[in-house]
Amino acid sequence: MQIYKVGGAVRDRLLGRPVSDVDWLVVGATVEKMQALGYRPVGADFPVFIDPKSGQEYALARTERKSGRGYGGFVFHASPDVTLEQDLIRRDLTINAMAEDQQGNLYDPYFGKKDLDQRILRHVSPAFAEDPLRVLRVARFAARYAPLGFRVAPETLELMRQISASGELQALTAERSWKEIERALMEEQPQVFIQVLRDCDALRELMPELDALFAAPQDAGMHTLAALEQAAKHQQPLNVRWACLTQALGTAINAVNQRFKAPRECQELALLVGEFQAHCHRAQQLDAATLLDLLQKFDVYRRPQRFEDFIAACEMDARGRGGEDYPQGDYLRGAVAAAKAVEVKSLVAQGLTGQALGAALKAERLKALEAYTQSAIAQRN
Ligand code: ATP
Ligand code: MG
Repeated sequence: MQIYKVGGAVRDRLLGRPVSDVDWLVVGATVEKMQALGYRPVGADFPVFIDPKSGQEYALARTERKSGRGYGGFVFHASPDVTLEQDLIRRDLTINAMAEDQQGNLYDPYFGKKDLDQRILRHVSPAFAEDPLRVLRVARFAARYAPLGFRVAPETLELMRQISASGELQALTAERSWKEIERALMEEQPQVFIQVLRDCDALRELMPELDALFAAPQDAGMHTLAALEQAAKHQQPLNVRWACLTQALGTAINAVNQRFKAPRECQELALLVGEFQAHCHRAQQLDAATLLDLLQKFDVYRRPQRFEDFIAACEMDARGRGGEDYPQGDYLRGAVAAAKAVEVKSLVAQGLTGQALGAALKAERLKALEAYTQSAIAQRN
């Protein structure tokens, strides 16, 4: 039995990047032998184990064959006679198909090192087409390694185009797609993820609403990419990046949220940004009643962070359009402070309760915002 380090750990060590998790490949073993050695199986019908001591993953060398649509339609064959080369050929990219033995020798039957040096994302074999998720994976790696100068090999892009045309992307589950989207959005250049999906026609399959923006007037598609780029540059969290991506989709935001079963806080922020972004951009022109309405809709008194994320997403959009600073942000923060300064205690002391208390609180907040907008106007003049 031979144990190799494989995949991302080998790749990232060669790139001089930090290695987070290590995947191990075991050649020449059986399920029984692994269990006898104390490794714990991960699932019933998957030849993957966890080393209880290190928590790292050990997979038996396997071949796989597609047997139907979707990911369930895969037949694995793991046995002691599956070779290292046979296991590596089923992997997505050549740079992900290298192995290293415990002495540090590199095994690279598909020339991943050469592609790594030449900064090329290239598929290992035509079997690439058997799992449509690989289209998203390649786009994600493109987003991650774009700062290093990586690009997708023309023949790989062509294969990705064929996968898009086959309709197979529709068979991906929301969970598998979202995992890739989420990771891609958190990469250094998430806009490259969308650009690559667009280049291989996958965007039209996955998010036709977004794809259509690139044909829309005023370059709405490019604006979306620019906003996303800014969000990454400013290290914004996932929900802000998702909101930047979906902000221009209007009534389709909900459908896109649902399609990928985006987490609740992503869904929520996307919808709020879609609806109220224009308000944010013209914050200083809003009258007190509209401002109050906005703060109430956001429930800023109880959900301050969500409002901050909203401002951040709008600011990234403005920066994507070439804006240098975004005074709207502090203006809105000032409005929140003014509304929050209204003392509930003094209203309660007046004997108000229930609906009457609510109405009085709202009236006081409106007064505070009127004073706030007036003083802002006075300062401007
Ligand atoms: P990351 O740094 O994102 O973890 P990684 O290359 O380690 O990158 P993993 O998703 O952890 O990516 O997968 C480990 C390895 O398994 C990959 O390097 C690749 O060889 C292989 N792999 C994973 N998913 C697929 C897939 N859908 N198709 C083909 N090969 C895959
Ligand atoms: Mg990994």
